[in-house]
Amino acid sequence: MNRPIICYPAGSYARNNILRWEKEGLKPVCFADLDKNKWGSHFSSADRTRKSSVYEILPLNVAIAKYPDYLLYVTADPVNRKAIYDFLVEQDFPIERIAFPDNIEWRKGCFYLGKALQLSSNSILFCCGAIEFKTVVPYLAEEPFEEVLARYETEKKKLIDAIRKGISTKCDGCPIFEEGFYEINPKTDLIQVVSSRWKGQHCNMQCCYCIVESELLANYDDVDVVETIHHIERIYGKNELKYEFSMGELTVGTFCNDVLQILLQKNRSCLISSNAGVFSGDINKLLELGLASLLISLDSGTPETFERIKGRNWFERVTDNIGKYSNNGKQGSHICLKYIFLDGVNDNIKDVDGFVNIAKKYKTNVSISGNQLKAPSTANTEQTFEMITRLYHSCVAEGIGISYTNFTFGYEDNLRLKKLFGEV
Ligand code: SF4
Ligand code: SF4
Repeated sequence: MNRPIICYPAGSYARNNILRWEKEGLKPVCFADLDKNKWGSHFSSADRTRKSSVYEILPLNVAIAKYPDYLLYVTADPVNRKAIYDFLVEQDFPIERIAFPDNIEWRKGCFYLGKALQLSSNSILFCCGAIEFKTVVPYLAEEPFEEVLARYETEKKKLIDAIRKGISTKCDGCPIFEEGFYEINPKTDLIQVVSSRWKGQHCNMQCCYCIVESELLANYDDVDVVETIHHIERIYGKNELKYEFSMGELTVGTFCNDVLQILLQKNRSCLISSNAGVFSGDINKLLELGLASLLISLDSGTPETFERIKGRNWFERVTDNIGKYSNNGKQGSHICLKYIFLDGVNDNIKDVDGFVNIAKKYKTNVSISGNQLKAPSTANTEQTFEMITRLYHSCVAEGIGISYTNFTFGYEDNLRLKKLFGEV
């Protein structure tokens, strides 16, 4: 049933967007507002050079009485949208009668769900946000890839539909599964490649926290990553695809050069996680073109701790490569140095300060991570938190951009981090 659409409120955000919404097919019967000064006047676009239709502005209760089969479109700006939605729910407007323009809805979800397609050799996953909660679509090398992707899209719709209906799903319990505004039909545009899960991949380091090298994937080596990415480009290529390479070391894969060439040819933006043990000219080209962001886990500020964590005496070599990638600081803003905090290993002043000096020298950003992937329920110790705080304040003092990866920390630590970062 096509319900008559009442747009509410009749504010400047709606005036600035009505032309676009009309073009996208929105046909409201009227606008409503609580401001009595607007009642009886007429609403139209703020753009005087192009004409929108003209709508009457009614008090909300009058509009509802006039159009009892209404659908209420919340035409407030993104900042006030949630408050207005809450107000309407408080006023007992049925949730199913409230909608939003711009193809969004209020439900549980996360940044990845519906947008991310994670290629993990012969499986497709819905996210790389939280390892243990993933939903998986397995496939075989000989299966036509169109059919694989059709199954992925069907599973994705089923998952989002179940969430919408409040049915329990694999996302339940995920630390980043939260209520928010999400697209109704999210478009796949984030291609995540788990670098470790492909033929010819063996890492050149042995990090103590590694979760990928331990499950080396003898059973998952029958799909060709370059061919798979060509399929992805053929099928989703019209979307503004972004790539992420993580969990494993891209530069040591036999497919690395071919994959990077595809990114260069297609002008694709990408986030590459690397241990920087090997300097790649193609990654550097992507950096120079402004297409790549590079995430390097350094996790230390001294050669001794580096070796203890990474299993290699490569501190100098890696910091030299960071210098080359940053072009002595000129490209540092595209590089983020990661610090995975490990209790009793790198949560000390010498390492934290040494690390900040490197970030400062090469003008990189910094990202803090917990060891959640290895020990999901473990909260960080007070000593670790003291060092996280030290790192945060040093970065702020030096003007170094700093962030944290929320899903690698437990619930309590996330609350503490939100406070530290001034988010609450
Ligand atoms: S499991 Fe978590 S990260 Fe993955 S799609 Fe669900 S909410 Fe998002
Ligand atoms: S660099 Fe990455 S893949 Fe290699 S051992 Fe370390 S965590 Fe594992």
